[in-house]
Parts: sequence; C-alpha cells; structure tokens
Amino acid sequence: MLLSVNPVNGKTIATYKQHSNKQANNIILKTHNAWLTWKTSSADERSRLLMAMSKQLLSRKNELAGLMANEMGKPIKQGVAEIEKCAACCEYYAENAASFLKDQPINTDASKSYVTFNPIGVVLAVMPWNFPFWQVFRFLAPALAAGNCGVLKHASNVMGCALAIEDIVKQAGFPANVFRTLILDSKSVGSVIENPLIKAVTLTGSTKAGKKVAEKAGSLIKKTVLELGGSDAYIILEDADLEKAAEICVNSRLVNGGQSCIAAKRFVVVKSVEKEFTRLFVEKMAAKVMGDPLDEATYIGPQARVDLRDELHQQVELSVTRGAKCLLGGKVPNGKNAFYPPTVLSHVKKGMPAYDDELFGPVAAIISAKDEADAIRIANDSIFGLGGAVFTADNKRGERIAATRLEAGSCFVNGLVKSDPRLPFGGIKESGYGRELGMFGIHEFVNIKTVWIA
Ligand code: NAP
Repeated sequence: MLLSVNPVNGKTIATYKQHSNKQANNIILKTHNAWLTWKTSSADERSRLLMAMSKQLLSRKNELAGLMANEMGKPIKQGVAEIEKCAACCEYYAENAASFLKDQPINTDASKSYVTFNPIGVVLAVMPWNFPFWQVFRFLAPALAAGNCGVLKHASNVMGCALAIEDIVKQAGFPANVFRTLILDSKSVGSVIENPLIKAVTLTGSTKAGKKVAEKAGSLIKKTVLELGGSDAYIILEDADLEKAAEICVNSRLVNGGQSCIAAKRFVVVKSVEKEFTRLFVEKMAAKVMGDPLDEATYIGPQARVDLRDELHQQVELSVTRGAKCLLGGKVPNGKNAFYPPTVLSHVKKGMPAYDDELFGPVAAIISAKDEADAIRIANDSIFGLGGAVFTADNKRGERIAATRLEAGSCFVNGLVKSDPRLPFGGIKESGYGRELGMFGIHEFVNIKTVWIA
C-alpha cells in the first residue's frame, strides 16, 4: 500500500493499492499497443493534442496546486507557477517538435542521404516528488511529440499527482493508453525495466537511485537519461552587487523549500566581501515566511516527508560538530510535522556534509575563498555537476568563468539557475547524463537513423 501523508500534520490523506506484476505488465502491453498507432500520427495531430493538454493544465491549475500542497507541502503560489510551466512546455513542443524532428539531409557519395528521427516505443519514467508535475511533463511533452508513449513510476508519496497526470492526458483527448501511471514502489522498478516492451528509461531522482536503475537498464542495453542530485555552487566575487546577489542566492536556496536539484547549495564567497555578503544573506533568509502551504503568504512549506527532514537535520548537526557555525535556524520545530527553518552555516569546509554532500532542504553553506581561482576550485570540488552561477559586476569575467571554468551542465551569470523549455537541461559527473528540454531533449529517445540511397 502506498500512502500520501500531509507533511503539515502527519495525517494520511489517501492510500493506493499497488499494481501486481501482472497488472503492471498488462498496462505496459496496452501502452505498447497504443504506440503502434501513435507512432504513425502526424506532427499536426500531436501538436493539436499538446495544445489541448496545455489548456487542461491551465484550467485545473488551482486544483493541482492544492494537491501538491497536501501531498508534498509545496506553497500554493509556487504550485500554480509549476503547472503554468508545464503548460508552457507542452506549447513549446507543440510549436517546435516538427522542426526538431525534420529530416536532416547530409551530402555524401549517395544520390541521397539523410538523418531521420524514428520513435522508439514505450519509455519508463521514474520520477521524484519535488516537482511532481514539472519533472513528468518535461519528459512527457517531448516524448509524445516524438511519437513515443510513456509509463510513469512516480515517487511513492505523490500518487495523487501521478494519477492526476494520467487523467490530464486522457482529458486532453490523447488516444487511450499513450501514457499510463503504474502504482508501484521502487522495489518493482527492476522488473518493469526487464519487460521487453520497455525500450528506455528516464530517471530524475537521487544519484543512488540513478546508479541502481542505470545498472539494470545497462545490463539489458536499454538507454537511460539520468537527472540526478546536485550541490550547485554560486560564486560571489569581490566586484558583485552584494545586495542583488544575496537576494538571488536566497531565492535560489529556498526554491521549493530548498528541495530542488538546482537550488544553490554552496555559496563560495571571496574573502574580502564575505562578511557583508553573509550579513545580507542571513537577513534575507530570516525574512522568509514559513507556514501552511495553502496560505498564499507562505514562502516555505514543510519538507516533503519527516524522514527526509530528519536526514537533513543530521547533516546540519554533523557539519556543526565538524566546525561549521550555525548563524540561523538549525532547530527542528515541535509537533507532528516536517517543517525545517531556513538555516545558514558558515565556516563550512571539506569533510563536512554541507561541503561534500547534497543538502536537500533550506540549508545554506557559506564557504570562504581566497580569490577567483580559489572560488572556481572550490565550486568544482564536488562529485556533482548540475548547475552553477557566478556573481560579478563584469559580465565578460562572469561569462568566461561560466562558459569555460565551471564543471556543470548549466552555468548562469548574475542569475539563478533555472530550467526553461527552450534550453537543454542536465548534468555531468554524478549529477547524471543526457539532456532534457530544448532540441537536445527530444532527440534523447528517438532512433537517429541514417538513410543512404545509391
Ligand atoms: P529518490 O529517492 O531517488 O526517488 C526518485 C524516484 O526514484 C522515486 O520514484 C523513487 O521511488 C525511485 N527510486 C528510489 N530508489 C530507487 C531504486 N533503488 N530503484 C529504482 N527506483 C528508485 O529521490 P527523491 O528523494 O524523490 O528526490 C530527491 C533527489 O532527486 C535529489 O537528489 C535531487 O537532487 C534529485 N533531483 C534531480 C533533478 C534533476 O533534474 N537533476 C530534479 C529533481 C530532483 P520511491 O518513491 O518509491 O522510493
């Protein structure tokens, strides 16, 4: 049985009976059968349905944001914004997929040779709870646009969201079974991957889960795209606008209650401005309102689950034991809830969880750097490589660091790292491989086929 538990008060909202192996395989077979027709659908038809899906999402945005607030604690305003972003992603692929999938002629010794993009079949999506709609739609919109079908194994605590997504696809008018939700826990993922009708797997989640799924899929020669953990470093140089940088850094650290793969987690500050930056940063962190996610004034809701909040607190305590200073927060509130306050740690050094690991919650690690070169070294001193940012008054200097020095998939100058349907998104190192979104995203799950005619 999978439970949806409200992290505000620990009450169980709903229970979901898991699909048996037989039921799951039956759903996969139906999805495969739907694909046999869907793969022949025209670009116009796919585009029309994606636009209808965008309308569905927008017409239900308040209801869906409420569902997220109850299942995983996302503040309602941020939930509405998430649904709007999903709708924009559907529209983006409705408008652009045909050009991304157009045959590409290549001159060779043939009378005609070109590259064409064929759909591959049913793709399994293993998804996390932190952006329960966005993570799914950024896979789903390009997958359907490319003529693929999908089955979703969502995180166990957001099955309500998973079933709502299945319903949205249906209500938008897509043919039956092009996208289905499997009600399964993580233990069942291996046997789903083994099903020969599953052609590829995309996983967004922790590095640990990514390694397991990649191992299984690799043993069966099935392609994977892995969007995994991150510990993004934001570098604050001595010439940065500190007020603006602190504002952006706080917003990035606290996005979704700090539970975002591309939230800023390490703040690498050049020594000469560290004191002033830290003062501004702590002041702005302290000003953010934590509370009921259904209240429009709330900026930070509870963490998604009590066990995850407790794990975060342990990382904070261990960092403090190893010499970090806690300047704000760092205490578990009373009661049967999953709240954790905005927390700032300074004097963070290698060997502490706040330096080495991912802190998936509203905890900022401030790390001191001697100069620009030292800041770049520290930023890259991580097993992760998802995103990164640099703050400086000199855009050319920032661009050089972002484009050529930082080891990460998305590097921003004077702005917070964010995903955008138009830009490819993904990581390097243990943050994963492959790209979602943009043109690169739609090419991940197609057969990039060479055609050669004498
Ligand atoms: P998680 O525990 O790895 O769960 C993600 C998904 O993987 C869930 O559906 C989960 O199922 C499943 N899963 C867990 N262990 C598995 C295993 N051994 N085999 C197969 N499936 C398994 O991650 P989370 O706590 O939900 O999400 C937080 C993590 O996701 C963070 O590390 C964050 O940085 C990362 N993330 C990355 C991105 C990105 O784009 N790079 C985006 C968002 C989040 P159950 O729920 O049933 O366990």
